Amino acid sequence: MKAISEVYDVCVVGGGFAGFGAALKSAKLGMETLLVEMCSTWGGVSYSSIHQYICGLYPYSEKYPEKTLNDGISRELEEGMKRRGCAQIQKVGNVYVLGFEPEALQSYFKEQVQFQKNLKVVFNAKVVKIHSRNQVIEELSIDHLQNIHTIKCHTVIDASGKGEVLSLSGASYDVAPDTKRQLAAYAIKIKGVQKTLRLNQLKVFYYLAKAVKSGVLDNHLRFGSWISSNKSDEGVLRISVIPSDTKYCLEEIQSQAQLIHSLLEKKIEEFKNSEIVCFAPSVSEREGIRMIGLYVLSEEDVLSARKFDDGVVKGAWPIEFWHQNQGPRYRYLPRGQYYEIPMRCLVSKDFSNLFSAGRCISVSSRALASTRVTGTCLALGEASAKIAFYYLNR
Ligand SMILES: Cc1cc2nc3c(=O)[nH]c(=O)nc-3n(C[C@H](O)[C@H](O)[C@H](O)COP(=O)(O)OP(=O)(O)OC[C@H]3O[C@@H](n4cnc5c(N)ncnc54)[C@H](O)[C@@H]3O)c2cc1C
Repeated sequence: MKAISEVYDVCVVGGGFAGFGAALKSAKLGMETLLVEMCSTWGGVSYSSIHQYICGLYPYSEKYPEKTLNDGISRELEEGMKRRGCAQIQKVGNVYVLGFEPEALQSYFKEQVQFQKNLKVVFNAKVVKIHSRNQVIEELSIDHLQNIHTIKCHTVIDASGKGEVLSLSGASYDVAPDTKRQLAAYAIKIKGVQKTLRLNQLKVFYYLAKAVKSGVLDNHLRFGSWISSNKSDEGVLRISVIPSDTKYCLEEIQSQAQLIHSLLEKKIEEFKNSEIVCFAPSVSEREGIRMIGLYVLSEEDVLSARKFDDGVVKGAWPIEFWHQNQGPRYRYLPRGQYYEIPMRCLVSKDFSNLFSAGRCISVSSRALASTRVTGTCLALGEASAKIAFYYLNR
């Protein structure tokens, strides 16, 4: 690989939904853009947690959605995925989502970035240090395959999900205490599951609750979820993990997942003879560091469908809070309405050239339970690139 040594207009940290949206828009606006991703693939949490649905893409309505809530890259993604024939608008509970095949998403992301001449994407590259002066970020040190490169950039977009640039730079951020943060999760893919009308999320939920009651499983494990694939005999089982500052022991969590699978195999007819075909590479956090920007979006802003003069992204996903003792709790906006996320939620209050996108924007812990879904993160990424553009051309 060519050395990462040039000067960039924009450095996007993270290649999840937010980072993809940010880097693509930034390159399309003609800015010299570098995207660094510490893993070897696109998708971030959506990849590591084996997602099947893009949430937050559509309005909250009774009616089948005619178009996406946000335009731009959100609409292009929907079209691109539909063109591949493996994406379908589905109603799940009260909301519409875009069901998709993970491989198709990877290929869509690759296709979109490959002809962007202003964009350089580097995988297996982790931002490890931020150099700043007078409240301006000037350089980033990147560990790429154990070589440290220091690059200069005019603006930085933190799309790392966990707010890596915020914490490395000393920018202000908020994080809920361990006991108040939303449950994290670990996913496994299971194959050979019989598809019957009786097998649904509730059946798995019910069985896990029973196993907890009889003392076979720890309390938090009752909040697992099962999502069947539309096409095959596969599905994804997610088990809950209590968030903690100490490092997760992945092996322990994997053996809990195996235990739960073996219990389901014994007790639920449809799981008989099924097998685990894939373990997620890591535990996925729903909540982490959130930037303190020029405005902090609140739960009330979300639920009252508040609009702002500097609104840049629309959101309509309910507040889906994964409570440690009560499991998922939903609070919906009035039907047919949406809230706006103001530009100020993406702008650091400390560094003039630092913006955030996706999961680590400036919102309260409760508001995050709505803004964190992938459809909204994608639109936030796109908006952050526009902000960087205004900043550089002001
Ligand atoms: C268990 C679970 C289930 C969920 N289910 C759904 C669902 O079904 N549908 C939905 O729409 N949403 C779902 N969500 C929410 C959604 O997946 C995430 O909130 C969203 O993907 C966040 O996107 P992001 O781009 O902000 O961050 P991420 O997806 O976290 O991406 C950040 C990227 O930055 C990289 N990175 C981090 N630090 C560095 C660094 N120092 N240097 C370089 N790269 C770095 C990471 O490797 C990662 O790839 C779920 C979340 C969880 C935890």
